Amino acid sequence: MNSLYKPDFLIIGAGIVGLTVALQLKKQFPDSEIIIIEKEKKLGVHASGRNSGVLHAGFYYSANSLKAKLCRDGNYFWREYCLEKKLKINQCGKLVVARNESELKGLDELYRRGQENSVKLELISENQAKEIEPSIFTFEKALYSPTTSTIDPNEILRSVSQDVINQNIKIIYNNKFLNTKKNIISTEAGKYDPGYLINAAGLYADVIAKKYGFSKNTKILPFKGLYLYEKKKCLKLRTNVYPVPDLRNPFLGVHLTVTVDNKAVIGPTAIPAFWRENYVGLDNFNLKEFLEVISLESKLFAYNNFGFRNLALSELKKYSKNKLTKLAGSLLNNKNLSSFTSWGKTGIRAQLIDIKNKKLEMDFKFEGDEKSFHVLNAVSPAFTCAEPFSKLIVKNIKSKLN
Ligand SMILES: Cc1cc2nc3c(=O)[nH]c(=O)nc-3n(C[C@H](O)[C@H](O)[C@H](O)COP(=O)(O)OP(=O)(O)OC[C@H]3O[C@@H](n4cnc5c(N)ncnc54)[C@H](O)[C@@H]3O)c2cc1C
Repeated sequence: MNSLYKPDFLIIGAGIVGLTVALQLKKQFPDSEIIIIEKEKKLGVHASGRNSGVLHAGFYYSANSLKAKLCRDGNYFWREYCLEKKLKINQCGKLVVARNESELKGLDELYRRGQENSVKLELISENQAKEIEPSIFTFEKALYSPTTSTIDPNEILRSVSQDVINQNIKIIYNNKFLNTKKNIISTEAGKYDPGYLINAAGLYADVIAKKYGFSKNTKILPFKGLYLYEKKKCLKLRTNVYPVPDLRNPFLGVHLTVTVDNKAVIGPTAIPAFWRENYVGLDNFNLKEFLEVISLESKLFAYNNFGFRNLALSELKKYSKNKLTKLAGSLLNNKNLSSFTSWGKTGIRAQLIDIKNKKLEMDFKFEGDEKSFHVLNAVSPAFTCAEPFSKLIVKNIKSKLN
């Protein structure tokens, strides 16, 4: 490709965020030309195709956060979307269990947040919880979320990308964004001069944002999510089972999910990774990134900022299958989960760190101006939130263009 392409909108990244933003842009600017560039040769190579597939209900997040505002609506949107398009969905709900008396406060806090966010939620007795899922262990009470469901994220991605193509939006694969100079963008496949640029590059969103003068005080730190599966199905679970999380960080603790195909899965972890796409072994190794990530992690570890040392030490132990099954077993009566022996597809969370204040960014974040817009920290539950999130993003873009 030698010519200079001049689309009205150029989106970097064909993850769930890039795809849904493209659809919203088309709704708001029906005559515009929109191109999505994607560095991989297919969909779902990164977070959008490597997650737990849970449509979260929206009760973990404090009421003033974007996560709280968008999660309930996103859950509803994807449920209706799956039912309408006949995509797989398991409306199996979720129980949050308390492992001891001290965790009851956490259950109450989640219930309070759920009420504030207008999420359907029930604080129930141990006996009521056991009627929903007989194999759980909980201390006195549990929280039941009937609207939590599981979906197949890759199936949704394929369906949404078809919606995108049906709107005459182009997705160009094998086309990595490389650089920008005076608004001219160089990619692996050529050059673009877009009217407006949207950066939805997941794990690389901060790197690209910095080239436009954004993400000045933030950096993505990759956290690895490992999953454990059974080789042969032994555990029959009716619902997702989660612990009371440590609400000081954005991770939900090791839990058991029930997939769309009714398989139980343990995970995911939140183990600090050593480079951005550090999925397995030395895959996608990048020395520059490795040195940057290690340097940042060492500093956070040394100063124990936001409890990073304790988090890293406890998460690193989860490379052990024994440790993972023990943690998941603490949510159940039958604590022997030795049938879980197979590692599943690893995911990496693109978690943003506020470098100046040395803390994890808890909420979604975006920055932009009249030329470009950058979606930072699209971490969990950004899959669930994607559709209402894309509306908010496009509303912001529109306000910058006026
Ligand atoms: C382990 C794990 C479990 C999760 N579980 C859940 C869950 O149960 N429910 C939920 O709602 N959310 C969950 N999430 C979060 C959810 O998966 C993400 O928030 C969401 O997928 C982010 O979408 P995205 O489009 O921003 O990123 P991505 O899916 O990573 O898409 C970004 C795209 O940009 C492309 N790209 C990057 N750099 C360039 C470049 N230079 N040029 C061109 N293209 C580029 C990448 O190849 C990629 O395809 C989970 C995430 C993880 C990692």
